[in-house]
Amino acid sequence: MSEIAGYLEGRCLCGAVKVRIDGLHDPRPGACHCRMCQRWSGGVFLCFHATDEAVTVEGPVTRFASTAFAERAFCTTCGSHLWMRDVENEASGYDLMPGLFDKAHDWPLRSEIYADRAMASVRLEGNHRRATRAEYEAKHPHIEGDV
Ligand SMILES: [Zn+2]
Ligand SMILES: [Zn+2]
Repeated sequence: MSEIAGYLEGRCLCGAVKVRIDGLHDPRPGACHCRMCQRWSGGVFLCFHATDEAVTVEGPVTRFASTAFAERAFCTTCGSHLWMRDVENEASGYDLMPGLFDKAHDWPLRSEIYADRAMASVRLEGNHRRATRAEYEAKHPHIEGDV
């Protein structure tokens, strides 16, 4: 599985926020174990990518600027995490939380970053791509970081 076409609908826990994706996107989630993502997610952060044009959002959304260039969004009513976005790059698209979408149940993991920082309770098995903190930060100098 790499990219799928069609549309997908997802929602937050309370149902106030609906997210719809139209068109092509890669549904395989990536995992991040950096300290920011651990705090925000409570364990392991998972997201998959969709373009700006593909995503429609309805409902009450609160945006938190986690750094100067990243926003993390959640439902204002129930607090469900919705997405993370690079706000400096206009065409960055959305990194969406797979748990909003029922179909995500069958999507395999694409990759894992900060793998060496994973909590003992969430070590991910399998043959997906993995990068340690040092490997990832060497390739991406402009990231949120492991603060
Ligand atoms: Zn909600
Ligand atoms: Zn992270």
